Amino acid sequence: MMEEGATDVPRGTPEWVAFVSAQRARIVERLERYNNPGTAREQLAELGDLSPYQHYKINTVSAFLHRALAKIAEGSYGRCDRCGGEIANARLLLVPAAVQCATCGQEEDRRPAHAR
Ligand SMILES: [Zn+2]
Repeated sequence: MMEEGATDVPRGTPEWVAFVSAQRARIVERLERYNNPGTAREQLAELGDLSPYQHYKINTVSAFLHRALAKIAEGSYGRCDRCGGEIANARLLLVPAAVQCATCGQEEDRRPAHAR
C-alpha cells in the first residue's frame, strides 16, 4: 500500500516538504542501485544478458532521476517540465522521478523515438 494520505498532500505545506524529502530518498536509492556495479552483475546473473535496450533504459531512467533531483533542488519538483502543470501526487508515488504530468508523458510516449 502507498503512503497513507500522500496522494492529497497540498503543495507548499510542511507535509509536502516531507513528501518531497521522502521522494528524494527513493530517487537517490534508485540511482545508487542503477549505478552500482554489483547490482549490474546481479541483473546480469538474473537475466543472463544486459540487452542494449536495458542499457538504454538504465541510462534514460538515470537521466530522469538526475533531472528529478535537480527539480527538487530548484523547487520545481511536482511541476511538469513541458506544460508547467502539477504532476499528480499519485503519479509521483508511482514514478518518483516523473518530470512530466501524465498527459505530457503520454504524448511523449506516442511520438516516434526518432522525433524526440
Ligand atoms: Zn504537462
